[in-house]
Amino acid sequence: MTEPDVAIVGGGLLGRLLAWRAALSGLRVALYDANDRLGNEATAWVAGGMVTPQAEAVDADPELVSMGRRSLALWPEWLRALPTPVHFSDRGTLLVWQRADGGEARRFESLLKARDSQATCQHLDAEQLAAREPLLENRFREALYLPGEAHVDNRQLLPALADALDVLGVECHWNRRVEDAERPQARLVIDCRGKSAQSRWKQLRGVRGEIVRLHAPGIELHHMIRLLHPRYSIYLISRPGGNLVVGATAIESDDCSPVSVRGALELLSAAYAVLPDLGEARILELDCDCRPALPDNRPAIRYTPEPRLLEVNGLYRHGFLLSPAVVEEVLAILPRLLEHPDYPLEASSRWPSLGAREEVLACH
Ligand SMILES: Cc1cc2nc3c(=O)[nH]c(=O)nc-3n(C[C@H](O)[C@H](O)[C@H](O)COP(=O)(O)OP(=O)(O)OC[C@H]3O[C@@H](n4cnc5c(N)ncnc54)[C@H](O)[C@@H]3O)c2cc1C
Repeated sequence: MTEPDVAIVGGGLLGRLLAWRAALSGLRVALYDANDRLGNEATAWVAGGMVTPQAEAVDADPELVSMGRRSLALWPEWLRALPTPVHFSDRGTLLVWQRADGGEARRFESLLKARDSQATCQHLDAEQLAAREPLLENRFREALYLPGEAHVDNRQLLPALADALDVLGVECHWNRRVEDAERPQARLVIDCRGKSAQSRWKQLRGVRGEIVRLHAPGIELHHMIRLLHPRYSIYLISRPGGNLVVGATAIESDDCSPVSVRGALELLSAAYAVLPDLGEARILELDCDCRPALPDNRPAIRYTPEPRLLEVNGLYRHGFLLSPAVVEEVLAILPRLLEHPDYPLEASSRWPSLGAREEVLACH
């Protein structure tokens, strides 16, 4: 068999998306993942799957918000091109808060205005909120509505991408862990191992996230709901089959052990405060994983000409929000790197900071 153009190590969210889009662009691709095609060991399996550039503007700078907007535009187009259906909803986010937390809402609005020039935040009174989301009738006096924000069903997405790779004849090596010292045969190797790349990329750290999956038939939310709260900022998302996701904690720790009692109590009590009917929901899963984060909580791309290794990492809590934009950027770089392997990786033109932050790119 001829040597692939690129070998991608790590087929979670980023690696699978990149393998698929690179193969679609005509490159010969091989993918290696330590686990199977379902993807249930990837951080992406645990995630909420939200693509919410406006809601995230509070924790992200304007460039990340623009990247999120680009991804939001790409997701529906990309999902339509998959051979297997993946649930995607872009009915927007509703932000709600308890009366005492009005300051959180004002803070959110001012940060959103400063960081997203295209923000389209709308104020709703109680009646307008009930019209949009009947389950929230009489629950909150007011709300903010962020139209167009979306969520992707992550658990449908990962196997659907594996199906798409099969259709394109991508060489997939499932259940094949690649160690740091190994080099799969290819003109260029791309490391997309997420949090497991810490052994090579010393600046990476884990940010622990806990999440709950409930079965709540009859409780179907039309929008993503976020509770603005100084301590417990949780979200609720309905999924097909009467399921509901409640996420997520964010704890500065590499500890990926099971959900703590505190984490479960925080998520479940905040969800119950938003929707008391959830008291009768059934707990399907309490899940936890660590988000792969660089010191500034932004993604980065770095290149080492010898041994021709491209590393893409640091998606932090924004894997679904940012990966299509990041993949698009990597695909723009690839032809040049394949032609001229010694080329220094210049700052990406569209998102300048992706490849140009000395403090997170140093190889030591
Ligand atoms: C609780 C929680 C909620 C989240 N919610 C959201 C959200 O709503 N929206 C959002 O945008 N982001 C969210 N995220 C973040 C998102 O999940 C991550 O940013 C994203 O999954 C990172 O993608 P990745 O491909 O870099 O890593 P991963 O998805 O973890 O993929 C890495 C892959 O590498 C493979 N691998 C590891 N080591 C090796 C090896 N040695 N050899 C071969 N393969 C290897 C693994 O098997 C895995 O498949 C959430 C995260 C958590 C924990």
